[in-house]
Amino acid sequence: MGETSMYNAKVEVAELGNPILRAQAKKVLSFVGGEAEDEGLACIVAQMREVMQERNGVGIAAPQIGISQQVLIIASRPNERYPEAPFIEPVVMINPIIDVESSQTEKGWEGCLSVPGIRGYVSRAVQVSVNFVDVNGASQRWDLEGFPARIFLHEYDHLIGLTFLDRIDSVADLISENELAKR
Ligand SMILES: [Zn+2]
Repeated sequence: MGETSMYNAKVEVAELGNPILRAQAKKVLSFVGGEAEDEGLACIVAQMREVMQERNGVGIAAPQIGISQQVLIIASRPNERYPEAPFIEPVVMINPIIDVESSQTEKGWEGCLSVPGIRGYVSRAVQVSVNFVDVNGASQRWDLEGFPARIFLHEYDHLIGLTFLDRIDSVADLISENELAKR
């Protein structure tokens, strides 16, 4: 705050029904912020961080702010539903690829900025190994487990046109946020 921002303060979040949430996001080609073809990677990342923090989220994907590019952020921290979750400083993953996904899965509650008011009990792989490029253009490989793996898989889905609603086994696994809070 107090600094001149390079983007408009109000970033709109794409919600269910917005076609961008159904699109395959494009690969980021340039890692130099400000290049027109990538709509300025640094700017996209700054906007994503802002929306994620504002909404108190643990992850976000670029299509959610109307940018169909392969960029996501995961930011695990302990919370009410996942008290054992590790604290991970927000990490920006560009062009992420799932290399290995465990066959072992577990179900857990998920919410989404793009699906307001609804939570789903979603089955996800327990472990996942991912390759991605960081904001400096360096290749990275991370092994994620438990809640961070869940966040990654949720955000990755946004890059391939899916939401958690596509991953539930049954509509019986959907609940309103208010009802879930009563449990
Ligand atoms: Zn989401």
